[in-house]
Amino acid sequence: MSKVMLITGAGRGIGAATARLAAQRGYAVAVNYRSDKAAAEGVVADIEAAGGRAIAIRADVAVEADILAMFETVDRELGRLDVLVNNAGVVDQVCRVEDMDAERIDRMMRINVTGPFICAREAIKRMAKRHGGQGGAIVNVGSAASHLGGADEYVDYAASKGAIDTMTEGLSKEVAGDGIRVNTVRPGVVRTTIHASGGNPEKTDVAGSVIPMGRIGEPEEIAEGVLWLADAGFTTGALVDIDGGV
Ligand code: NAP
Repeated sequence: MSKVMLITGAGRGIGAATARLAAQRGYAVAVNYRSDKAAAEGVVADIEAAGGRAIAIRADVAVEADILAMFETVDRELGRLDVLVNNAGVVDQVCRVEDMDAERIDRMMRINVTGPFICAREAIKRMAKRHGGQGGAIVNVGSAASHLGGADEYVDYAASKGAIDTMTEGLSKEVAGDGIRVNTVRPGVVRTTIHASGGNPEKTDVAGSVIPMGRIGEPEEIAEGVLWLADAGFTTGALVDIDGGV
């Protein structure tokens, strides 16, 4: 039977590339999306056309009830979960901290921090040996912003990814004895639509000049790291930088 991977925010960008690669490696894949059903169904269709197995599931990771329903759908339709990829995340308009309101910061933290925590909780309930599970892996998609800080762009986003780094450190130790590994990839600038949605579409043009390797990353390059961590039997608590040297 195929191993099962749930990837949040997999309709496009890094999540979609990870879904396609996971299916190639033999995973049955749950492709979560929030609003763009057609994009998620397109990823599922690509996977099925290549002979793989996938389903699309709508859920907003900022809404706990959506997350619970999503995990129940995975249980019912794909079976026992082996890997959770906490990928869904957002930036917001470029903004200095002195101009940020509480609503913006709350939304960022709900999607980028609370969502991954609640998804991790639901995964642990299913994977942990203490709950009768067979172990598994959680791979978070963090960001180089967590150590760069996001000054003059989005310090709130950088801080949300800092929380993911710390969650990785603590949770990996907490659940290691339950057979669950917890790791994080930290991409630098990657060619996806996240920059345009944050009102910063030119970020992918300028970033190449300030990255030591002289170019931005491709979603497929981040997906390789996620899949390596999903299967890396003796690695836990790791923050893996995939950022062209920043
Ligand atoms: P993207 O192209 O903007 O795609 C985001 C995906 O997440 C979409 O499928 C979107 O679904 C989904 N999503 C957004 N909010 C959601 C929510 N509340 N609930 C469920 N799904 C949600 O983003 P990306 O660039 O691939 O980023 C993926 C991850 O990588 C994020 O965590 C991001 O912070 C991180 N990252 C990206 C970069 C970069 O340069 N691209 C760099 C470092 C880290 P819909 O389309 O249905 O709305």
